[in-house]
Amino acid sequence: MPDTDQGLFATALAQFERGAELVGMSADLRSIISQPKNEIIVNFPVRMTDGGFRVFRGYRIQHSNLLGPYKGGVRFHPAVDLDEVKALASWMTWKSALCDIPFGGAKGGIAFDPHAHDQDELERIVRRFTHSLGGNIGPDHDIPAPDLGSNAQTMVWMMDTYANSTGATERQNVKRFVTGKTLETGGSPGREKATGQGVVFCLQHWADEVGFDLSGASVSIQGWGNVGSATGRILQVHGARVTAVADHAGAIADEDGIDAFDLTDWVQEHGSVAGFPGAGWIENEDFWSADVDMLIPAAIENQVRADNAPKIRAKVIVEAANGPTTLEAEKLLTDRGVEILPDILVNAGGVIVSYFEWVQNRSAQRWSLDDVDHKLRDVLWKACDAVVEAQKEFGTKSRRDAAYAVALGRLQTVYQQRGIFP
Ligand code: NAD
Repeated sequence: MPDTDQGLFATALAQFERGAELVGMSADLRSIISQPKNEIIVNFPVRMTDGGFRVFRGYRIQHSNLLGPYKGGVRFHPAVDLDEVKALASWMTWKSALCDIPFGGAKGGIAFDPHAHDQDELERIVRRFTHSLGGNIGPDHDIPAPDLGSNAQTMVWMMDTYANSTGATERQNVKRFVTGKTLETGGSPGREKATGQGVVFCLQHWADEVGFDLSGASVSIQGWGNVGSATGRILQVHGARVTAVADHAGAIADEDGIDAFDLTDWVQEHGSVAGFPGAGWIENEDFWSADVDMLIPAAIENQVRADNAPKIRAKVIVEAANGPTTLEAEKLLTDRGVEILPDILVNAGGVIVSYFEWVQNRSAQRWSLDDVDHKLRDVLWKACDAVVEAQKEFGTKSRRDAAYAVALGRLQTVYQQRGIFP
């Protein structure tokens, strides 16, 4: 069976089990902690521009609220299903615990292609989805954010829908209902680039530890959306060279470096990397075998697989996407000594700055970009330190297993202290 046939939640559970083993978690606690608390599915009708109606299926998985409110993005993609959202929700729980922020884990999504709809239809889909979720989400209970296929505008529509179904005296209090909003509507400076910024902070920490020089290093990036493009631009500012980029339309390469800022403008205008004049078109398989120092998957899950892992020449794989590496590929790569910086650490910048946005909204403050960046770096470097410590404590080379051990150790302690009700 191809290594991608296993459902994503099964992959997430296998990763969880390795971490649970390290911290000696009991079988009872494993069964409680690994499964989502609530699985919500809504089917809702939306009027299309042509006058007809279409029924959409939306999901919200609330995995854990042990450490704080449920928290996680909403994904708009045709492949969204229950299994995928469960996996993504569980990764949010581990991510927040690892970074020691007072949030639980959740994820949501709608199974559809946002690019196939005009803005008016999109707005109606988002507002009706928010309305259908109703009281299942809320500013101190379950707080959505952008993910693949959604963006700041999506969050503004969600917030406005919620505000308009809230009593007039409470309306100003509900901005923190979602994070990742536009700056003008209560978003945080630095949220747009937060995940990419976090990827670079984690890379800097790792580079410092192992003596790797980021400046002058070459990098290939899969996905030039919010996360991939911000990562590419920030790495370029630090002197790295983006030499290959792939997205849903295909792949491009240039040994001398692709200008990350020009490529961002191009993709914004044309929707993909296809036709970018500053690089040549390459086959997808040549993207995976590109001779680079770092490979950053920043698109969708299950992209680094048993079939392409043997061709990968990078020294380090930086999981900016959630779940980009299959279990089999991970084994093949680590056996060859390729380093993997795990998703629950590397892409946590988004949820960390979401937390900062929530705190700012709660206390009616506006922090500066400098302040946000410094705080983000502090939180992430503390998490990176904890992972390095855990590698030593548990005698594991795997940074993923060490990261899970930190996160699960924290959750286990809280469960032990609080007990199970009644
Ligand atoms: P996005 O929608 O902004 O961009 C997605 C990119 O992936 C696009 O360039 C798209 O062309 C590419 N892509 C889609 N399908 C592809 C395919 N089959 N093959 C190759 N490329 C493909 O999404 P994003 O917000 O940048 O999210 C990317 C990844 O990062 C996801 O795994 C997401 O869960 C994760 N992530 C996002 C955030 C965030 O703050 N947005 C935070 C943490 C993790």
